[in-house]
Formats: sequence, C-alpha cells, structure tokens
Amino acid sequence: MANNMDGFLDNKEVFENLKDVKNIIVIMSGKGGVGKSTVAVNLATGFALNGMKTGLLDIDLHGPSVPKMAGISGKEPFFIENRIVPVKVSENLITLSTGLLNKDEEQPFIWRGPMKMSVIKQFLKDTEWGELDYLVVDCPPGTGDESLSLLQMLPGLAKVIIVTTPQQVSLLDVKKSIKFCKDLNTEILGVVENMSGFYCPDCKTYHAIFMDNGAKSLGLEMLAELPLDPEIVKLSDEGKPFIYFAKDDNVVKIRFEKMIDTILNNTNKKTETNNNSGEKNNMTEKTTKNTKKIAIPVAQGNVCLHFGHCEKFFIAITEENGNIQSSELLDPPVHEPGVLPKWLGEQNVNLIIAGGMGSRAQTLFNDNGIEVITGVGEGTPEEIIAKYYNNTLEKGVNYCDH
Ligand code: ADP
Repeated sequence: MANNMDGFLDNKEVFENLKDVKNIIVIMSGKGGVGKSTVAVNLATGFALNGMKTGLLDIDLHGPSVPKMAGISGKEPFFIENRIVPVKVSENLITLSTGLLNKDEEQPFIWRGPMKMSVIKQFLKDTEWGELDYLVVDCPPGTGDESLSLLQMLPGLAKVIIVTTPQQVSLLDVKKSIKFCKDLNTEILGVVENMSGFYCPDCKTYHAIFMDNGAKSLGLEMLAELPLDPEIVKLSDEGKPFIYFAKDDNVVKIRFEKMIDTILNNTNKKTETNNNSGEKNNMTEKTTKNTKKIAIPVAQGNVCLHFGHCEKFFIAITEENGNIQSSELLDPPVHEPGVLPKWLGEQNVNLIIAGGMGSRAQTLFNDNGIEVITGVGEGTPEEIIAKYYNNTLEKGVNYCDH
C-alpha cells in the first residue's frame, strides 16, 4: 500500500516499548469536526475513572486539540535523556500531544511526510508509557500519513473506533476509513454516531436533525449514538471532560458511560483495577471488626444530594451499636476526575451514605470494597448514622441515578 513506509516497518522497538500496554484503541474519523477528539479525551478519562491505567496519545499533528479539551494546555512533557515522559493529567491518566510541545498554540508546526512518521514512531517507541491497561490514540481525520503510519507500526495490536456524524457526506468518508482498516487487517470495535439529533433539555424531547438511518447503515457495531448538546461544547471549551464534569442526568454522558462499560467488558479489563488489594487491606486494618468508618457528603449541615459537588465530608468512626466514636468534617480535594474515590480510599472509609451518586463512582467504590448507600434525601449526618444503625434509613431514588 505505501512504499514511502520503507524503513519504518521495523517495529521491534515499538513493540518492545509497548509490551506492557494491554489494549490500544485508535479513534478515527472520515472528516474533521465530527467529535473524534471529544470521544478520545472522554474515553481515556472514562477508562481512568474506572481505575484503568490509561495513556492518551494525540497524533493529530496539524490540529492537536487534546491539551485544550483535557484542560492541560501549557503543561509540558519532560525529557530524560532521549526518553519522553508524558504529562500526568490525573492519578490514572497520562497524555502526550504535539500541542504540549508547541508553546505558541496559534503557531502551526510545519510537518513534511517523513517527519510525521518519525514523530509518531518516537511517540510510540521513545515515550515512557509504562504499564497501561489502555492507550487511546487520537488520529487526525481521514486516512492520511499519520493514521497509516500508526496502524502499520502496530499490526495486530490496535483496535479502531470510528466516529462519524449521520450525514451522507460524512458517511461516505467513513466508508473509506473502514476499507483502510480492512486493508491493514485492523479490527474495528465499532462506530460512534455523534451529533445524532438533539435532545432538548427544556422539553425533554428528542429531535432528529439529520437522516434517520445514519451510521446504522455502515454494518458496524453501533457503540453509541450521542446527541448534540450545548453543554458538551461548553465543557470541552473549558477543558473539562464531560464524562466527569457533566451532570449525571446528561444524556451524552449516560450513553458514553454505557459505551465504556461495553468496551471494558469486550476487552476484558474491567476487573483489574489498580492498587486495589493493597488499599483494601489497609482499610480493614485501620477499622476494627466492630467499627466502621462512614463518609457522608454534606452541604449546609445536611446530606448533600450530589456526591461529587458537596461542600464537606462528614467522616465518622462508629461502634457496633451506632455510637459515634469520633468524627471530623473534611474539605474534599479539588473536583477532578478520579480524585474523590482515591481520597476516600486513603481515609480508609468503608461505607458511604449519599443522596445521589453516578453509577460510575458507585462501581469504583464497590470494586474497592467500599459499600455505598444512595437515595438518602435528608438529615444531618448524625441523624443518618443513627437511622442506619436502627435500620430506619429511608432510601428514596438515587438522586444521580439514570
Ligand atoms: P474532531 O476531533 O472530529 O475534529 P472535536 O472533537 O474537536 O472534533 O469536536 C468539534 C467540536 O464539536 C468541538 O467544539 C466539540 O466540543 C463539539 N462537539 C463534539 N461532540 C459534540 C456533541 N455531542 N454535542 C455538541 N458539541 C459537540
């Protein structure tokens, strides 16, 4: 297919460097502006929120948007001898993009074909990716040099997700991407149809904007159909991945979380969260058999309905009969992806009682051996703990449930 790849096909060093990366997922699209980078950033953030060690590599050399969307513009990777150390975004997420190497965002890098290939090869073979459950790669749109080099350097390793909008013109280009992957013997996990219709937050009704059939006609597994949503643009522009920062009833977020579950299940990595066993043992050691450490998110002295947005955490050690042995009111750390579960784990909490909590956070706590009770709508933390021990705790709806 591409004779200009001579000299780049010796992949030994790339394979060696990526030997501890369990899954490589490449995000492609036929056209620009369809939401490819949005999907890449949120997929990587979502994996990280699920406890997966994740890398996010942006090889969109001409228009890298990952730094801005992930809220890390201005940060720089550093170099140790000839090795590149990616930027740490959060506990489980590291990233690398040419956008992080170029201090002047408005000044484009000029890349010639062979330079592009050598930069991509460097990103793969000279970067400290370490042990990763997932490496998510954001490609430029289309089937140009960058995507070709990438897939040729990763034969049999990479799996592709294609992002498209439902219009015919976009779908035509997607068909080229599908053929491209087939020619390179690369597995396609499925398609994300983005901007497919509009879900009106006021009238709570779905409005189809483009043709109905859309990406379903491609014959690929439909991973998610994501409606247009002004909240997504706003968060993206602010560098806040919607998978964490959007409200828990946001339709795009709910559908995206489902897709992440599907991918985690299909790639068999869901059960392997990091550092769990150590933390779990620690936790049970610090509370005895007869005591519990309970955390309750509070706002203005009462249980807070939205776990991720509370003012304080009331944390109490309780005895078997419900007596509160000791308690403290702590400020939660900054509101960033993955931070709260880690912080509560470090507090050795073994029960969280909350008004509402998204399913993602619940799964994360449960995987870490922390029990979660949701749907508790009112009361001071002391009243709630008393009711918990009297078995009179009233649980309504989970205020963040979907
Ligand atoms: P690409 O990587 O395909 O060029 P981007 O991910 O940069 O596309 O998205 C283009 C623009 O569309 C961005 O401003 C992004 O915030 C916005 N966008 C992406 N998905 C949605 C959506 N579902 N609803 C509204 N805006 C979206």
